[in-house]
Amino acid sequence: MTEELPALYVAPTPLGNLGDITLRTLEVLRAVRWVAAEDTRHSAPLLARFGVSAKLIACHEHNEEAAAEQVIARLAAGESVALVSDAGTPGISDPGARLVARVRAAGLRVVPLPGPCAAVTAFSAAGLADAHFLFYGFLPAKAGQREAALRQLLRLPYALVFYEAPHRIVDTVAALATAFGGERTLVLARELTKMFEQIHRCPLAEASAWLAADADRQRGEFVLIVAGAPESADESDAEGERVLRLLLDEGLPVKQAAKLAHAITGKAKNALYAQALELRQQPG
Ligand code: SAM
Repeated sequence: MTEELPALYVAPTPLGNLGDITLRTLEVLRAVRWVAAEDTRHSAPLLARFGVSAKLIACHEHNEEAAAEQVIARLAAGESVALVSDAGTPGISDPGARLVARVRAAGLRVVPLPGPCAAVTAFSAAGLADAHFLFYGFLPAKAGQREAALRQLLRLPYALVFYEAPHRIVDTVAALATAFGGERTLVLARELTKMFEQIHRCPLAEASAWLAADADRQRGEFVLIVAGAPESADESDAEGERVLRLLLDEGLPVKQAAKLAHAITGKAKNALYAQALELRQQPG
């Protein structure tokens, strides 16, 4: 890699299994003089295990701008820097994007190294037929904001990939079922690459009961993938929309319009409610 210097190398690290670091990433980490790390206390022992002796620069959410100055100064001095996060690929629901932007804006080189990423790892084993997927990452923690976010995603015909932490997994899975209805498939991938790795696939309607059946299933780190909205959704949306428009034009409140439209069309109440909210915001 010597001829590629100097550059900021974006270096993915293992999600759990140390064997997942790539040969190229190892080579880069061992060759650079500096490693910018999301949490230096977390990365120091990991880097030591890999025989990396580079000096560490703290680069986290709260100091990314200041860290960028430091990194740019090193690069300008002809030294290379690797960027690592706690696990997986920097910049993917992790700090890194602002540093990368600053380095690029300074006309300096950024070299991405392929490697572990929980979203891609989970999707590769989900076995979903969706040709496309949308990486969402973490949903908002507050229930109202989370519901609003899910309403925006409801009708997208792409598999949806979410990240979630153990203390929110039960609430988030329940919210997904409420927002999307029980029929869509959920793939729940926990503890990927680790000893208790588990990849479970079921209809959303069954997901909460599956989690509740064993407290261990609520532990660890999670990727949740929801299959995309079915193709037929468009047609039934059109019928739902026609009925909702009539009811809203008559001045009915959103909630009541959704309830009546449900009685008339048999479509899911949540979906109609979300559709009614959208229609109310659009000019007639
Ligand atoms: N940058 C990382 C990546 O490339 O995937 C993601 C970092 S984000 C702060 C952490 C989240 O990633 C976790 O809350 C979880 O949703 C997901 N994650 C990380 N490691 C995981 C694993 N071993 N199994 C399942 N999900 C994981």
